[in-house]
Order: sequence, then structure tokens, then C-alpha cells
Amino acid sequence: MVKAANSRGEAPGTPPRTRILVVGGGYVGLYTALRLQRKLRAGEAEVTVVSAEPYMTYQPFLPEAAAGSISPRHVVVPLRRVLGTCRIVIGEAQRIDHAKRTATVATLATEDEGTGPLEIEYDELVLAPGSVSRTLPVPGLADYAIGFKTVEEAIGLRNHVIEQMDIASSTRDHALRDAALTFVFVGGGYAGVEALGELEDMARYAARYYHNIKPEDMKWVLVEASDHILPEVGPELGVYTVRELRRRNIDVRLETRLDSCENRIAVLSDGARFPTRTVVWTAGVKPHPVLAASDLPRTERGRLVCTAFLTVDGVEHAWAAGDAAAVPDITAEEPGRECAPNAQHAVRQAKVLADNLVASLRGEPLTEYAHKYVGSVASLGLHKGVALLYGRKLKAYPAWLMHRAYHLSRVPTFNRKMRVLAEWTLSGLFKREIVSLGSLEHPRAEFELAAGHGHKFPPPPPAPNPPKDSQG
Ligand SMILES: Cc1cc2nc3c(=O)[nH]c(=O)nc-3n(C[C@H](O)[C@H](O)[C@H](O)COP(=O)(O)OP(=O)(O)OC[C@H]3O[C@@H](n4cnc5c(N)ncnc54)[C@H](O)[C@@H]3O)c2cc1C
Repeated sequence: MVKAANSRGEAPGTPPRTRILVVGGGYVGLYTALRLQRKLRAGEAEVTVVSAEPYMTYQPFLPEAAAGSISPRHVVVPLRRVLGTCRIVIGEAQRIDHAKRTATVATLATEDEGTGPLEIEYDELVLAPGSVSRTLPVPGLADYAIGFKTVEEAIGLRNHVIEQMDIASSTRDHALRDAALTFVFVGGGYAGVEALGELEDMARYAARYYHNIKPEDMKWVLVEASDHILPEVGPELGVYTVRELRRRNIDVRLETRLDSCENRIAVLSDGARFPTRTVVWTAGVKPHPVLAASDLPRTERGRLVCTAFLTVDGVEHAWAAGDAAAVPDITAEEPGRECAPNAQHAVRQAKVLADNLVASLRGEPLTEYAHKYVGSVASLGLHKGVALLYGRKLKAYPAWLMHRAYHLSRVPTFNRKMRVLAEWTLSGLFKREIVSLGSLEHPRAEFELAAGHGHKFPPPPPAPNPPKDSQG
């Protein structure tokens, strides 16, 4: 274990700067650090951000990235560029010992160095590692399914869907073709519905470039355990969305669960069986496991117990917000309600958290976090969507426009906004991109082939022996 080269290198005589450690570089991590950067006076404190990736992912754009409407690098915000005065450490916080004010962090270098993880000391902790997919012990799930939380998953899924169309187009095996053209999504929240809506729309469009695949040859299935989908936009728009998806020939199965996906066969609780090579799991999230490796208090569901001031309850110098934090919703009528894990809360909580942290350093009073949910927007494919904002319900094209306008206003940095806008404008003028770049995931494959190792496609069977009399 090595101690991280750390702060406290002030000139003799200067008061020690407060060391603020932000764990997580997502919504909360980025927005908190940005605001701290803006509000802290020179020499007042120093901010270190530990993030598993060097970028923040704007998750609401993942479905559009999967559909090819936005390129992957515009869905992410580089932390080093926007957090110029913070120290960025790319690594994974593995343990938090708040009693000792220490975080244990593994970086890309620690394994090669062989010295074990870093120990980063701090005075104030902001814990914001977000959430991970909530999986269930469904046989075959860990082997065959994919989630939809990261840019890698979104782009991987896009390439995979197009690749399945290529497989279906080239095979003479009917069973293989059917399995390749069957896509099963589990979970009817916005991640699942938007991902399905965008990918189905993209695949339907792509089918025109295949001589032997028609849109109706594909089977898209949405499996949802409850009796409704998209709770974020309310019951009426949820019902409308089911109707719209079914109108597009998408098989929406409510009150149904995925029981197994072993041997590439999705078996549902209603008895249906779908041989498939694609199972996308978006059935909810759970707090990041690093929280369990800390000495901070957690709720039964594993989120950090927080106050409305965004401090960790009963603990000094620890702050949390976003998906990882159970923050009381003081605007709710029923007492004891927590803020839902969504970006709307995460962004607003981050600002209050940073303001409160600065106020606490200066001995000023803290402010409570209060935000009444304003609704949600969801895209269901190009020019299709649903939106519930400030009680106003929108459907189809107006909702889709609202979805784009809302997220354009929310995606961090002017630079990203302009790039996304330029991409949308260009994609309105030109045809959609339908190429699969799955080979990017294996950049050495071509060189290995040239060097005589491996085959891009299965090798041909050995040539039959030529007839004897032709052998000169
Ligand atoms: C496909 C999709 C669509 C969505 N659409 C919407 C929407 O339309 N509206 C909405 O309100 N919400 C939406 N959400 C939810 C929203 O994105 C999350 O609520 C929000 O990202 C939570 O912010 P966070 O900062 O808590 O976590 P995140 O943004 O997930 O950030 C957590 C960060 O911590 C890092 N990290 C994790 N563990 C560690 C560790 N041990 N050490 C260091 N770093 C770590 C992660 O790499 C990540 O960068 C969507 C989510 C998904 C997946």
C-alpha cells in the first residue's frame, strides 16, 4: 500500500488547505467539483476527484448513441478538461475508512507497480459512485445478457444488433436466423424503453439495405414485471407508450419476468420461449458496492443514509448525493420518502452539496435540498417520444422535440451542446449511419491475421485430394 503524493505541501507558515476528496466522476462528482472549483477561494481547499473513467457519461444520451444519432465521444465529458484546477485520479475507490479519513484506490498503474493500491487521505469526503445494474439470480443472465448503463454497452449493443442482421442475412440456417433477429429487453423504465425504441427504429431503417431482411422478420420483445412501463411519465403516457410500441409490432409483455436465458433461450414466466442472441437487462439499479466497503451508515437498500443538507447522517465531514444517497424528499406529502435515483435530482443535489460544503468550511449555515419532481422526457426512436413536464403531457413528434431541447439544455458544457446540435443537424440532412464497427473491440485481429495467427472467419475445410490422374 502506498500513500498518494498528497497536498499538504504548502509553504511553511501558510494554514493547511482542506483536502476534499470526491469519489465518482458522474453527474454528482462532476457538478460538485465544477461548483467547488468556481466557489472556493484560492488556497482555501484542494479538490481531488477519483473516477473509474476519465469522463462523465451523460446517460440520457446513451439510447441516441446506440441508434447512431450522436457519436460516442459527444456523450461523454472529459473530466481533465472541465476540472482544470482539480487533481484527477483515474482509479477505483475500493474501500473508504472514514474514521481514518482514508480512501483506498486502485489505479491502472498500481497493478504494474506491484505496490498495492494508493491510500488517499482527506479532510472532507464527497461519496458519489452512483449505482450499478440490479441483477437477479436468473440462470444464464451473467453469461449472455448485457446492461445499458455505460457508453461501452450502448455502442457495443449497436454493433451487436447490426452484426446480428449481418449474420441473419448470410446464414442458411433458419433457427440461427430467427435467433439472430430476436431481441429481448428486460425492464420497462426509461433506460430499457428508450434503448429498445431507438435500436428498433435504427434496425428497421437499416433493414432497407439488406436484400433478404424485412422489418417484420425481426422480433423485438419488452418484458416488464409490473403492469405498466415508464412510470417516470405517469400512467396515461405509460399506457400510450405500450400502445405505440405494440403498433410498431414490438411484443410488450407486462406482468412477466425473465426466468432463464440459458443456452441462448429466453424463457419467460408466461411460458414463452425465445431463442435469441440478445438479452438486454435494464431491470433497475442498486447502489454501488463500494458503499458496503465503507464505515458509513446505509439503508436497508444499501444507499447512504443522508440528511436533507446532503451530509451523511450522524457522521462529520462526509457528504453524498445522487443514486448512491438516500436523501429525504422534503417536498413529498408522505414522510420518509427518498429522492428517486435520477439525473434530475443528482444535478440539483450536487449544487446544494457543493454550496453547503463551502459554507461549512466558512462556518456559515447550510441549506436543505428541496426539489419537486418536474416530470420526465423519453425518446422512442427518431421523431417519436413521450414527455411529462410541469404537468404538461406531450406525445409523438412534439414530445421528441421537447426531449431533444431538454437534454441539449442539460448536457454539460457549451462545447458538448454545440457538437451534439451539429450532429443532429447533419443527421437531418444525410442518411443514417448503419455500419457496425464491432471490430474496433479487437484492434489486433487484423495484425494477428497478417502474422499468421488466427482467422477472421472460420477457416475453410481442407481441400479434397485431387484425382490421381491429374497429378502429372
Ligand atoms: C440509459 C439511461 C438513461 C437515463 N435517462 C435519464 C433521464 O432521461 N432522466 C433522468 O433524470 N435520469 C436518467 N438516467 C439516470 C441518471 O443517469 C442517473 O440517475 C445519474 O447518472 C446518477 O448520477 P450519479 O452521479 O449518482 O451517478 P453516475 O452518473 O452513474 O456517476 C457515478 C460515477 O462514479 C464512478 N464510480 C463508480 N464506482 C467508483 C469507484 N469505486 N471509484 C471511483 N469511481 C467510481 C462511475 O464510473 C461513474 O463515473 C438514465 C440512466 C440510464 C442508465
